[in-house]
Amino acid sequence: MRVMAQMSMVMNIDKCIGCHTCSVTCKQAWTNRTGVEYVWFNNVETKPGVGYPRGYEDQEKWGGGWVRTKRGRLKLRSGGRIQKLANIFYNPKLPEIEDYYEPWTYDYDMLLNAPAGEHTPVAKPKSLLTGDDMKIGWSANWDDNLGGSPETVQEDPILKHMSDHVAMEFEQSFMFYLPRICEHCLNPSCVASCPSGAMYKRSEDGIVLVDQDQCRGWRMCVSGCPYKKVYFNHKTGKAEKCTLCYPRLEVGLPTVCSETCVGRLRYLGLVLYDADKVLEAASVEDEKDLLEAQRDVILDPHDPAVIEAARAEDIPEDWIEAAQNSPIYKLINEYRVALPLHPEYRTMPMVWYIPPLSPVVDVVAGSGNDGEDANNLFAAIDQLRIPMEYLAGLFSAGDLGPVTESLQKLAAMRSYMRGINLDEGRDESIAEAVGMTGA
Ligand code: SF4
Ligand code: SF4
Repeated sequence: MRVMAQMSMVMNIDKCIGCHTCSVTCKQAWTNRTGVEYVWFNNVETKPGVGYPRGYEDQEKWGGGWVRTKRGRLKLRSGGRIQKLANIFYNPKLPEIEDYYEPWTYDYDMLLNAPAGEHTPVAKPKSLLTGDDMKIGWSANWDDNLGGSPETVQEDPILKHMSDHVAMEFEQSFMFYLPRICEHCLNPSCVASCPSGAMYKRSEDGIVLVDQDQCRGWRMCVSGCPYKKVYFNHKTGKAEKCTLCYPRLEVGLPTVCSETCVGRLRYLGLVLYDADKVLEAASVEDEKDLLEAQRDVILDPHDPAVIEAARAEDIPEDWIEAAQNSPIYKLINEYRVALPLHPEYRTMPMVWYIPPLSPVVDVVAGSGNDGEDANNLFAAIDQLRIPMEYLAGLFSAGDLGPVTESLQKLAAMRSYMRGINLDEGRDESIAEAVGMTGA
């Protein structure tokens, strides 16, 4: 066992209200400069939706992350060594500026000079570059709040494969917010893609950074990151990315996005992990086993063997203590409510998510049962407003098991706490049903 420390985050997306405060405060702190106008180290996407940059989840198109070869090895999807050298001269997998953002305005003329009519006039958005009417996903979060409208269904990579929702009716529509930063992956494909050795993962806390002096601007990291969380500064000609606010962390402050999050949904903390097991875990054959394999890599900071191994690696005592006090291990491995975003990219992301617990929609009986009721949720897990299949496509490579486990625990916890808050007493049978007694 080779123990290393990693700064990580868990976001409880049930609490995200899509206010974008995190994005704006991050931008003010880090990318409020010429050359990075289009850059959002932190962005908040509406799901279903095409994300930012548009369609980034289509790995066949953009070539990010790792693929497992027949011999069980990992290979960069963006290409091996020869392709990597060729890509220095021509990298075909780069998103273009309009995939991120196109300056736009509204056609106010339609609003101000509309003739009297039956309907309220609408100022249609139009591109400032071309003057054309805008299409879905033309700028960051363009599809905000559309909630699986037909246009979004066509473009969302998970939703369009869900046959039940191809012809989504109004009562089946759903939406939630997905805040995203760099995942500070344990097996970062951005680092492996960089021909200049400029991208690196800090050994002491796992934060992934770009050495600005070393960067030659090849942008292989942009293609190589499956989450598209490395950006190119058009003024300096260098790559830039989320630094997990390391200058703040080093003086004991949280990241800007965590500190300013209106929903208080970002849990930030250290975990200890077994660096010897990372590659093995990232290359398990079945994509559906990746989540459990990654959980196994994250170590119990209270285990005496782990503590001893951490000391042997010179991890400071106060860091071990910080890992013990951090909620991250508990949310991922003890309570098992947090899940990684797209584990099938095989980069071992270290920003995990507690999935949203939507209400039960009992279409047949029309009972409108509440998703906070643990007993109802056990019976009606397949009738949640946000389809389980959709959440599994985001967080568990399509495996319904981990999402079900997480949501049933969340429903049980809410139901249990509601009993206490309404002075109805503690219903220990709820905690027992989901194996969370004493939690
Ligand atoms: Fe690298 Fe971050 Fe992308 Fe992971 S999410 S591959 S660490 S840029
Ligand atoms: Fe969501 Fe918090 Fe960001 Fe607001 S500040 S959008 S609540 S993550």
